[in-house]
Amino acid sequence: MPATSMDQLVSLCKRRGFIFQNADIYGGMQGLYDYGPLGVELKNNVKAAWWRSMVYERDDIEGLDAAILTNRKVLHYSGHEDTFADPMTDCRKCKGRFRADHIKDGKCPNCGSTDLTEPRPFNLMFKTTVGPIDNAENIAYLRPETAQAIFTQFRNVVDSTSRKLPFGIAQIGKSFRNEITPRNFIFRVREFEHMEMEYFVKPGEDEQWHKYWIENRVKWWEDQGLRRDRFRLYEQQPDELAHYAKACYDIEYQFPHGMEELEGIANRRDYDLGNHTKGQEEFKLEAHCHENHESTQKLCMKDEQTGEAFIPFVIEPSVGLDRAVLALLTEAYTEEDLGNGNSRIVLKLKKHLAPIKVAVIPLKKNNEQIMAKCHEIKKNLLKLGIGRVALENTGNIGKAYRRHDEVGTPICITVDFETIEQQPESVTIRDRDTMEQHRVNIADLPAYLREYFNN
Ligand code: ATP
Repeated sequence: MPATSMDQLVSLCKRRGFIFQNADIYGGMQGLYDYGPLGVELKNNVKAAWWRSMVYERDDIEGLDAAILTNRKVLHYSGHEDTFADPMTDCRKCKGRFRADHIKDGKCPNCGSTDLTEPRPFNLMFKTTVGPIDNAENIAYLRPETAQAIFTQFRNVVDSTSRKLPFGIAQIGKSFRNEITPRNFIFRVREFEHMEMEYFVKPGEDEQWHKYWIENRVKWWEDQGLRRDRFRLYEQQPDELAHYAKACYDIEYQFPHGMEELEGIANRRDYDLGNHTKGQEEFKLEAHCHENHESTQKLCMKDEQTGEAFIPFVIEPSVGLDRAVLALLTEAYTEEDLGNGNSRIVLKLKKHLAPIKVAVIPLKKNNEQIMAKCHEIKKNLLKLGIGRVALENTGNIGKAYRRHDEVGTPICITVDFETIEQQPESVTIRDRDTMEQHRVNIADLPAYLREYFNN
């Protein structure tokens, strides 16, 4: 059974060092979380799995890592300055502020009053000024999506890689949205990481590529361990589509608080490249640079047969890393009844996602000979490049197993007196899911683990 309540996850995440409330010692800050020692490992593993499937395993996608602070013009011509807003309503009774489209039965979610103001748009972008002079000319934004830099760097990427359609540009990085009501732990936050890929195609081929990417992403989520009956595809209705989209499918997952969006796969048409091409011309005219139409970048491709320029369409799979982490934790969380009144919590993460791959545990705390052997084993295992290998020195095997079950460590290796006293040297290996234990010779460990983690 996956996690059924958010409390189970919040408690595990704090207890075991996955996720903490930001600025906890000062009462926290709404919609901001920090990733602890195991959270950062899990996040890195999810990013690596996404990057591998998007960039390394393909021959048609390049990577990018762009700045977070964004030139105002970019978000003006992308349409975000005017339209990236959620409808906000106030409760006249309790003075609470809410997203109007999240209100049920016309009642304030806080006090139940029906005395609410008419919804009005609230722009979600964080504004700041760049440099020492605080005036309108120096306004910049923290990006609300990573995608815009992919569009503004389109020409540079095409020219430096000689790409032909279809091809994509992938990026992972922070995005910021001043959500009216951040909630549900890391599901809706004000600072999060986006994993976005823009796949450029010929107009007319966009619908078939849209279908391709929906199938590709469904398969990827299954490979990460989400059971197919716990997520579904939802086609956005015309009145739900973002200002740039021709169509959009959401992958919705059964989070503890309900079936909600995990990833959006949108057909953004030629909206962004088209607007940034036009935008540059307007900008140059505005800046009184009359002769430099030539120096504006035409964000287009040439038809190889006719030589005519056209603006590509783009398909965008876009997922929030924090939501991905929440979905994977929900799915992996398992409470198992071991009989005789015993139970355990075990995080059944796929092994490539597990924050710690192997825990090396000495049977006896602070025993010099056993500890020296543990260090030697850890050093040798690191050479395999399988990820984090943790060394315990708590001296309580039962507790160590319980802790590593809870954080999803697939393999525990116990070093005992037999290890140091008998030849050939051997250790006990314990499997997280089956809890089965067996003896393996130290000389065979690298091959054993290489085989285990590569499969
Ligand atoms: P929502 O409808 O939930 O506000 P959205 O449709 O505005 O999300 P998109 O702009 O499509 O979201 O962004 C793509 C993905 O980014 C979402 O599917 C989600 O995983 C993630 N995301 C968006 N906003 C947030 C947020 N405030 N906190 C965490 N993740 C987010």
